[in-house]
Amino acid sequence: MKLNPEKYNRNISLLCPVCGNSEMEHVEESETVKCTDCGIELTKDELIKENGQNIDSHIDEIKEELSKDVQKQLNEIFSKAFKGSKNIRIK
Ligand SMILES: [Zn+2]
Repeated sequence: MKLNPEKYNRNISLLCPVCGNSEMEHVEESETVKCTDCGIELTKDELIKENGQNIDSHIDEIKEELSKDVQKQLNEIFSKAFKGSKNIRIK
């Protein structure tokens, strides 16, 4: 049974909490990024915190996809295992 972990990589874009813009530029010689639209400056930690819900919902989505795939592969494994056996029937 193999799963392709690359399938579950996502690019999660961090959005400006003020205006929703997704383009941020790094402010030189600082730990902050600046929204190219409204100009608000945030540290990376603040940006990640503000986007926490966004990131969480991606994780849920990935989990769901992953469990669907696992389920599918298990079904295939079981149907192969029972093929050829006359004594076991699956309804
Ligand atoms: Zn902004």
